[in-house]
Amino acid sequence: MSSTVSTQTRPTAKEPFEYQSVEVLKGVGPGVAAKLEKLGVYRVQDLLFHLPLRYEDRTRVVPMGALQHGQHAVVEGVIEHAEVRYGGKRRGGRGGRSLLCHVADGTGSILLRFFYFNSTQQANLTAGVRVRCYGEARFNNHRIEMVHPEYRRLLDAQAAAVEETMTPVYAKTEGVHQALLRNLIDQVLNRLNGERLQEYVPDVLLKKHGFPNLLQAIQMLHHPSPDTSLEQLEQCKHPAQQRMIFEELLAHQLSLMSVRQRVKKEEAVPLPLDVTQLDVFKRRLDFDLTQAQQTVIAEILHDMAKASPMMRLLQGDVGSGKTVVAACAVLAASGSKKQAAIMAPTEILAEQLFENFCHWFSAKDCVLLTGKDKGRLRQSKLEAIKEAKVHVIVGTHALFQEDVEFKELSLIIVDEQHRFGVHQRLALKDKGRFDGSIPHQLIMTATPIPRSLAMTAYADLDYSVIDALPSGRKPVSTVVVSEQRRQEVLGRVAGACASGEQAYWVCTLVEESEALQCQAAEETASLLQQALPELSIGLVHGRMKQQQKNEVVDHFKQGDINLLVATTVIEVGVDVPNASLMVIENAERLGLAQLHQLRGRVGRGEKQSACVLMYSSPLSERGKQRLAILRETNSGFVIAQKDLEMRGPGELLGTRQTGLMQMRIADIVRDESWLNEVSAASRYMLQNHQDRIRPLIRRWLGLADRYGAV
Ligand code: ADP
Ligand code: MG
Repeated sequence: MSSTVSTQTRPTAKEPFEYQSVEVLKGVGPGVAAKLEKLGVYRVQDLLFHLPLRYEDRTRVVPMGALQHGQHAVVEGVIEHAEVRYGGKRRGGRGGRSLLCHVADGTGSILLRFFYFNSTQQANLTAGVRVRCYGEARFNNHRIEMVHPEYRRLLDAQAAAVEETMTPVYAKTEGVHQALLRNLIDQVLNRLNGERLQEYVPDVLLKKHGFPNLLQAIQMLHHPSPDTSLEQLEQCKHPAQQRMIFEELLAHQLSLMSVRQRVKKEEAVPLPLDVTQLDVFKRRLDFDLTQAQQTVIAEILHDMAKASPMMRLLQGDVGSGKTVVAACAVLAASGSKKQAAIMAPTEILAEQLFENFCHWFSAKDCVLLTGKDKGRLRQSKLEAIKEAKVHVIVGTHALFQEDVEFKELSLIIVDEQHRFGVHQRLALKDKGRFDGSIPHQLIMTATPIPRSLAMTAYADLDYSVIDALPSGRKPVSTVVVSEQRRQEVLGRVAGACASGEQAYWVCTLVEESEALQCQAAEETASLLQQALPELSIGLVHGRMKQQQKNEVVDHFKQGDINLLVATTVIEVGVDVPNASLMVIENAERLGLAQLHQLRGRVGRGEKQSACVLMYSSPLSERGKQRLAILRETNSGFVIAQKDLEMRGPGELLGTRQTGLMQMRIADIVRDESWLNEVSAASRYMLQNHQDRIRPLIRRWLGLADRYGAV
């Protein structure tokens, strides 16, 4: 997915002003337009939504005596003394010249420091000259300094004007400087009036939340008045910002809801499963389903029995047993002699799922299709699928390549959804369109997201959660140790393996390139082999051929390998119940969610499992707190919540990682507190303002209506 939000067809001149190309503005030719595209700015309206990153307060002159450390401010005073110093430390190492000016304003004094200056500047900044400066005040040796402030000489005591509004600072890109952006945005603001910028948020909602109207909000955000609290703006708490956030969330929500409405109107083949069939299946399992599993199975089967397509998200922590739930859904499809496709993000995972399904269903009725299949073999598999000789079809993305034709695909299951984008998810449904029906869809994910976020990010889906692990699971006991205690950790690995258990050793490396990472993992493996010569050690990393990887993982599963050294490729899904020890090197470098996923590889069997989080010192206070969370809890949901609290905006869901919502201004994590109101508002609009929905979606998501463009 591209990083810019407003990718759509090129705007045409007949559109309303805000949808016209930026080329209608003075000073924008094709060259500048191309540069603006790098900022995601295509249309006039994109400029309005290109909100400042921060603001500078140049609306007043701050008395020097009142300056605070770190404050960005305008000061004004008379140079009392200026000198050029030689030597001394200078940024960049080498000693050099610096120009120092002592400036006073009657309330206090500050020191201006310039490392780079020419003779004209030096001649301008002499004793007796009155200057106005803008810069960051910093305490240094008990006095306040500004390093390389912007400055201007003032003639005598003339009162020079200050800015009337706060100065916006925009994200810029090469060839598009601040002054140009300010100029273009001002052109747009000057040409707009209330009529041109249609308000789509209903009045009742504006009133309810005390929001300004859209034009006011935009004007205010590009030019905040001097009495605006910068602190409020920086925290995105200003009503004008909140209003924009609310509107954007609303547009996304409505977009997902309309997708849902559209899909729900389609037909699907009802796949009822009778109780006896389910009971027979359950009896064949070598464990009892948990209550949580039974509940979600019932929800899924209820959906699938209907003639409208199921669109359901199944969340469940690592190890909660989602696979067998998926199997029950597959049972409903295959029981009706219809096909089910199960898609996994990696070949290793697909193979593992395939093994499970062969075990639970007749192996003759199952097929595995991955990118590995070539030539004759692939052809024969494709034929079997096309002629419905097989009903349970497991695979990777390969399942959805053009030449794969299904006969009666009636159920699609996507495992570990966060590896697939929203687009892919939507693209799947048409693959199985036949006789006017589309398949039921079940999306399974272990990415722990708090419920409110899940409901928003997946507003097009119904939501089920497996909220308890199978009983008898012993929580993984987690310790956090310094890298300096590596010897002890090695001893622990040796001990575990000596008693017949198996272990993972995960290398998390900072190396930029994957090649270097893999090289480093190879080195770790050989060092471990030297230290622990009695063990059989295997290695998997991202640069190995898929087949090699699979072989290593197979050997590990069969117990021929005691210790599996891996990069984070094992993060998702490898299921080896006999593995009971996990060592993660440089754990401080990974996110909590990722660590939790990794740790979920152990604790799958009867034995007490352990996870050793090794860090390299020194560990920051925050780093300590983060790792402590993992030590204290095994619940993915608790971890996600804490992670959210500690991290604040953006990172938890990492749109790039999850393919979740990408927004211009709002951030579903930071702005979580709005989500309930936004859902209510969406329903209100669907009931009362149908006509405003499309234009609102268009404003924020563009013509393409990204979620719906399938
Ligand atoms: P995940 O939700 O992470 O995909 P899996 O479906 O891979 O979890 O299940 C993890 C392990 O737990 C598997 O070995 C599976 O056989 C086992 N399992 C699943 N359900 C139960 C249950 N109700 N009781 C005991 N073990 C179970
Ligand atoms: Mg799984």
